[in-house]
Amino acid sequence: MHASELTMYPGDKPQQVDLDRCVHCGLCLNACPTYRELGVEMDSPRGRIYQMVQVANGAPITEAYQEHIDLCLACRGCESACPSGVQYGKLVEAARSHIEAEVERGFWARSLRDFVFRQLLPSPALLTAAGAGLWMYQASGLQKLMRVTGLVNLLGPMKDREALSPAAQIPFFFREIGKTFPAEGKQKYRVAFMAGCIANVSFARLNEATVRVLQKNGCEVVVPGDQTCCGALHVHAGIRDKARELARRNVDAVVDGNFDAIITNAAGCGSTLKEYGELLEHDPKYADRAAKFTSLMKDINEFLGSIELNTNMGRVDATVTYQDSCHLAHGQKIRKQPRDLLKAIPGIDFKPMPLSDMCCGSAGIYNVMHTELSMSILEKKMVNVNSTRAQVIATANPGCMIQLEAGVKKWGRGGERVVHVVELLDEAYTKAGK
Ligand code: SF4
Ligand code: SF4
Repeated sequence: MHASELTMYPGDKPQQVDLDRCVHCGLCLNACPTYRELGVEMDSPRGRIYQMVQVANGAPITEAYQEHIDLCLACRGCESACPSGVQYGKLVEAARSHIEAEVERGFWARSLRDFVFRQLLPSPALLTAAGAGLWMYQASGLQKLMRVTGLVNLLGPMKDREALSPAAQIPFFFREIGKTFPAEGKQKYRVAFMAGCIANVSFARLNEATVRVLQKNGCEVVVPGDQTCCGALHVHAGIRDKARELARRNVDAVVDGNFDAIITNAAGCGSTLKEYGELLEHDPKYADRAAKFTSLMKDINEFLGSIELNTNMGRVDATVTYQDSCHLAHGQKIRKQPRDLLKAIPGIDFKPMPLSDMCCGSAGIYNVMHTELSMSILEKKMVNVNSTRAQVIATANPGCMIQLEAGVKKWGRGGERVVHVVELLDEAYTKAGK
């Protein structure tokens, strides 16, 4: 889509009132992974806000501005560090949306973006076809051959990207969409489960584990048939018109279903799903429905932390550490619940990780777009992971899992497992039944 065809709403570019909150104190600098890596003021939160102010005051959108905004992980670590309440996540998303509306991209760049964001991610058929291709590459042994023979090195800088390709998990979770799963024992809650887009292909087993854990906790779990991609990647890339279209579809798919909660197991998706109210606030037909959707939206850790947890679990004997997902810790302010859930599992020896809420470098598709910087951030993360000497690294977002798995392969101590918190709970419930 051409930039000129986009409809802009208030909030689709940084607002002066939000920019004015920054007093340029610099207390956020040390919390910023790109500033720590590059040491460049313009790649710090304060520097990026300064540039946004210049553009808001009429300065042109230059290539340098685009690059500094693009290099931001949108991890929102700066937001947690800021004493002035600057909503940096909102600002950087708005800055990207402003760039999307003002800058005309070349034909190939525009076509690729249109295909990925407007065709592939919202389409179960295209995702299934792409997932099947990935599965063939992996299951045929071709991927292993490429790695063992060193042929993968011929990919040059693309080699690290190849290592970041997630595993395709057959059967895909798409087959469960539209189904209802009964509660185990007495039903206490009726919940809707948002299954994601790529997660249906690459985290099908995690999605199944999530449904089982909810069933064990007295939930009837509905996987609404008309749901689609949540639009988080679109919001992060500045493609807010498509994000709004997807949000409307998800609101329609879920909001009249008489649910006690709407659940996601992906922190990155959850952060955007909770912002539907804001995203659609200027849409008279959807504003109230989107606000209702937002009020019901819960991360799985948050939901399980808010109910009386089923503690009929078997032992999972392991040393476990926890990496905060940025969009859970900084975006949704959820830090305690996943740790409490891990500590509730018998046998787990919990090892806190230094700087656990510093981004791992995953950040949606950042690791694919800026692989070198992302790997450099990951290498530092792995020093902190390794210092815990944990056998299991738990986290709360599929994207972080892919990144940490790449980190374990490259810089791990050997044999560590990367899991979602829910997968450990599922393991504990399964063992209780034996
Ligand atoms: S974003 Fe917050 S912490 Fe950072 S410079 Fe501005 S006011 Fe200070
Ligand atoms: S969102 Fe993350 S990378 Fe971007 S400025 Fe803030 S701390 Fe730095």
